[in-house]
Amino acid sequence: MSHSEERRTSKTGDQFATRLIHFGAEVDQATGASSVPLYQASTFHHASIDAPPQYDYTRSGNPTRQALEDYIAGLEGGVRGFAFASGMAAISTAFLLLSAGDHLICTEDVYGGTYRFLTVVASRLGIETTFVDMTDLDAVRAALKDNTKAVYMETPSNPTLKITDVAAVAAWAKECGLLTLLDNTFMTPYHQRPIEQGVDVVLHSATKFLGGHSDLLAGLAVAADENIAVRLKMLQNSLGSVLGVQDSWLLMRGMKTLQARMEHSERSARKLAAWLAERPDIARVYYPGLADHPGREIHERQSSGYGAVVSFDTGSGEAARRLMDKVRLPLVAVSLGAVESILSYPALMSHASMPQEVRHARGIGDGLLRFSVGLEDADDLIADLEQALAR
Ligand SMILES: *Cc1c(COP(=O)(O)O)cnc(C)c1O
Repeated sequence: MSHSEERRTSKTGDQFATRLIHFGAEVDQATGASSVPLYQASTFHHASIDAPPQYDYTRSGNPTRQALEDYIAGLEGGVRGFAFASGMAAISTAFLLLSAGDHLICTEDVYGGTYRFLTVVASRLGIETTFVDMTDLDAVRAALKDNTKAVYMETPSNPTLKITDVAAVAAWAKECGLLTLLDNTFMTPYHQRPIEQGVDVVLHSATKFLGGHSDLLAGLAVAADENIAVRLKMLQNSLGSVLGVQDSWLLMRGMKTLQARMEHSERSARKLAAWLAERPDIARVYYPGLADHPGREIHERQSSGYGAVVSFDTGSGEAARRLMDKVRLPLVAVSLGAVESILSYPALMSHASMPQEVRHARGIGDGLLRFSVGLEDADDLIADLEQALAR
């Protein structure tokens, strides 16, 4: 066995931090190069017309993208990964595992783009969705119909970080013969590995924590078993919304530091949440790490950490606007999960298309802000919020 083969086969048992760096393709087999080569090619030569090459056309497969797909599959504990041009490309492709006449049960506080795809596009293709409070197992069970085929989860949810009991929903879904899908963007495989809880398909907006630098749009899907993997592969190749070669490389570059970034940001997020919770001018703080956060014990059973997103209610739209005007450090923007902190205003950004009554009913008031904690010094972030909150 060559040294490099030995490198490749001695990975079992390694801890997550080690697997992030030694993921199998970290050393180029042909040259020993320290990063995955960019195979910037759309097509591949058939040396013998009777023996097609391993890769023949980049939509169907590309060695750089394959390295990324194997990387995420390994981290999530699935059998195969798939890389897409965006999180929505991954999510919408996975929904096409369903067919006309099928019914889906989906968490009610799902990501806005997912809600739009299901209500505007999937509905037109004859795929019907019931949105339920996924934290309520009875509500999930009650939504079951004869034609239900799948359950879609997101936990913690956006922006109020509601917790779904993944193992309980997945076990019930399995009993009923349903496919389970879960958007793991907020936790990443560092904190939460849904396949270990019985989920069939894990999805990511890799634009967020996995990429980690606000410089890339990407989506990933991981299949728990070979049967689903074959169907997802067919859909990825048929729909063609694959991730480009350069972006595949850039995403792998970001993923190598996932644990280092998540650890730092989470530590700061805990500190920030605790500080906010003490302030009389903050009406409410949403963070799974707070002692009184609903579903905290469930979250602790299924995740190794609380993540880097903290939402808080300033009490009014006026107070939220004043704070956004006065903060100096965070980027005031949509998106999350980057080296820089990002402050979002759900009422006018991610949830602007939701009718006000629905928004308010889901706890997304006009004073709610979402803080994605980056890699700045935590005390500097707190000092910045303090000066922005001062009257
Ligand atoms: C951003 C996001 C998406 C969509 O991903 P894109 O990369 O923007 O297409 C899906 N789910 C969650 C939870 C997100 O935050």
